[in-house]
Amino acid sequence: MKYIGAHVSASGGVENAPLNAQAIGAKAFALFTKNQRQWVAEPLSAKSISLFKERCAEFGFAPSQILPHDSYLINLGHPETDGLEKSRAAFLDEMQRCEQLGLDRLNFHPGSHLKAISVEECCRRVSESINRALDKTQGVIAVIENTAGQGSNIGNTFEELALIIDGVEDKSRVGICIDTCHTYTAGYDLSTREGYEQVFRRLNDIVGFNYLRGMHLNESKKALNSHVDRHDSLGDGLIGSQLFDMLMNDPRMEDIPLILETPDETRWAREIEYLYGLIRG
Ligand SMILES: [Zn+2]
Ligand SMILES: [Zn+2]
Repeated sequence: MKYIGAHVSASGGVENAPLNAQAIGAKAFALFTKNQRQWVAEPLSAKSISLFKERCAEFGFAPSQILPHDSYLINLGHPETDGLEKSRAAFLDEMQRCEQLGLDRLNFHPGSHLKAISVEECCRRVSESINRALDKTQGVIAVIENTAGQGSNIGNTFEELALIIDGVEDKSRVGICIDTCHTYTAGYDLSTREGYEQVFRRLNDIVGFNYLRGMHLNESKKALNSHVDRHDSLGDGLIGSQLFDMLMNDPRMEDIPLILETPDETRWAREIEYLYGLIRG
């Protein structure tokens, strides 16, 4: 089963996210469980938590169809002690929010070396940050998203994702999320059939499809290998529609949240319908 949806608003409370997802015909959704641009947030209220669970049950959203995303401020590979500690505390809070909501995975961007430490040292710090959060929580998988490699962001090569996973003690609670826009602008050409097969063969050899816990379905405004992260709507952008046709008919993308993070939210309902329409047989 393909679970397709979008990163919907949780404005007014996390309990509104399943409503917003249902309204656009989504069978999956992503959300922020707190304001993504602030370090600290009020704890989730008991009422928010119970309404969220009620609505997810009512609309048929199981945890495997929901991919919460953490705050953009968090850098789990931060080169400095203060920034690292602050990030680790905020990440633990995000993991605990997922636990409270009965969710089983949390998607995050791995981190940035800020030109102060090596990529390898940054990856090592990310692994250690994950280990610490896993020690203090239960049942939530830390899902590392691949990046475009913009600025000093790490995680734009499959080797770096593998290196981070290698440093995580509990391999059953670490995963990856592949973003199609990031993959493309990081230099992996998914636009042709040959490219698609080769890129995903490499992903399987270097990381392993068993770690895939979600995908972000985005077109790209920027070129292959540009290392710039600018999402575009489906039907626009430089990758082309063949990628989405191949994804929708690839059994490796079954039973995980497939999330649109495309810029025009008024098109999400049509984009979801379009993607479901690509499935053959
Ligand atoms: Zn993404
Ligand atoms: Zn992005």
